[in-house]
Amino acid sequence: MRIFNKAEECSGCSACQGVCPKEAIAMKPDERGFLYPVIDEEKCVDCGKCKSVCEFNDNYDKSSLLEKPKVYAVKHKDNSVRAKSRSGGMFAACADYILNSKNGVVYGCGFDESLDVVHMRIDSYEDIKSLQGSKYVQSDMGDCFKMAKKDLDDGKYVVFSGTPCQTAGFRSYIGDYIYKDNLIVCDLICHSIPTPKLYKDYRDFIENKYNSRIIRFDFRDKSCGWNSHMESYELENGEKIISKYYTELYHMGTAIRPSCSVCKFTNTKRPSDITLGDFWGIDKVVENFDDNRGVSSVMLNTQKGVDLFDKIKDDLYFEEVSLDQAMQPRLKSSTDMSTQMDRFWRDYQNHGFEYILKQYTGYGGYKTKIKRKILKRLGRW
Ligand SMILES: Cc1cc2nc3c(=O)[nH]c(=O)nc-3n(C[C@H](O)[C@H](O)[C@H](O)COP(=O)(O)OP(=O)(O)OC[C@H]3O[C@@H](n4cnc5c(N)ncnc54)[C@H](O)[C@@H]3O)c2cc1C
Ligand code: SF4
Ligand code: SF4
Repeated sequence: MRIFNKAEECSGCSACQGVCPKEAIAMKPDERGFLYPVIDEEKCVDCGKCKSVCEFNDNYDKSSLLEKPKVYAVKHKDNSVRAKSRSGGMFAACADYILNSKNGVVYGCGFDESLDVVHMRIDSYEDIKSLQGSKYVQSDMGDCFKMAKKDLDDGKYVVFSGTPCQTAGFRSYIGDYIYKDNLIVCDLICHSIPTPKLYKDYRDFIENKYNSRIIRFDFRDKSCGWNSHMESYELENGEKIISKYYTELYHMGTAIRPSCSVCKFTNTKRPSDITLGDFWGIDKVVENFDDNRGVSSVMLNTQKGVDLFDKIKDDLYFEEVSLDQAMQPRLKSSTDMSTQMDRFWRDYQNHGFEYILKQYTGYGGYKTKIKRKILKRLGRW
């Protein structure tokens, strides 16, 4: 059985693994650290279920979408919620309602005990902070699709959140359950997702350098303001460090998943009830709304999304805007692959992490910066 032909045709959502009746599929990292399905041919009975569930095609179900999404600029009224959230705290407001008023469960992306980025289930609002904030690395879905389906079977209220390729995979996996009133699917406007290998190697590098374990990692520390882009980490020895080297590596676009360059979800027909993003440019759309603590761009794509918003709106400051006013690049086209990608991976594989950190980011100091500039001028970078 072959599910896809080229690496960019798989987003790693894991729906095929979940649907296989023979448990013949395992998600395994390739040499760049991205998870792909690997089929055990001894167990496979060629039923084709993995191929038909695969969401990485243009035909994801759009039947429940409103003709046009309703769009809002949103800020949670509680500033302490916004401080922990990436943008305006809309996700926490949705989770709060489902957990506290509906006694439900929420699935999203958090950290495990080793600080690896994984998808997880929470059933108490006490645990919401593990899911708040953007993690710029692809999460390991584990058994979350199966667990969420079981929760729906048990009649629980469920919020399932993730990147659009993950929510599309989930929707495809659960089939008709998508129409259940007790399910809300939340996706993100998504720039692209880097490999877990980069994040793991960065952590190992820091822990070796400081000879201390990292006990907290924040991919985008808001203490410097919503619009700044700095990561921070805290070490067991008590040090807190704010840095930007991981961020630089992410933004270069050399370590992102191949499927991101042909992403099927960079449009306004979303595989979700609610889409969340950062409302960049809000100051030009709604006067005096931006306080540099974060504003969410919220698209309500289905009637279920509209109904949920109605229930939680007392927790929010919000302004309705047009879809055009909330437009941004990742709602129009996918991220371009860096032209440096092959060279980056050659360097990474041949010389290791510290080498690429020095060669490709500000960590290398002004000499490497000048060298890069000269090579760029010569057309060799
Ligand atoms: C990799 C990535 C790229 C993004 N790119 C853009 C962009 O180009 N433009 C834009 O406007 N917004 C982008 N966002 C979305 C934005 O950063 C916020 O996630 C969104 O505004 C929600 O913020 P919030 O304050 O409501 O909630 P928060 O509490 O900050 O949101 C947490 C939500 O993000 C999910 N999440 C966090 N990290 C991941 C991950 N690695 N994989 C899957 N789900 C994750 C959680 O499950 C939860 O649903 C991106 C997010 C991520 C994770
Ligand atoms: S996109 Fe998802 S369902 Fe399709 S092959 Fe990849 S992991 Fe499997
Ligand atoms: S850019 Fe598209 S393919 Fe890449 S992680 Fe985001 S949703 Fe998935």
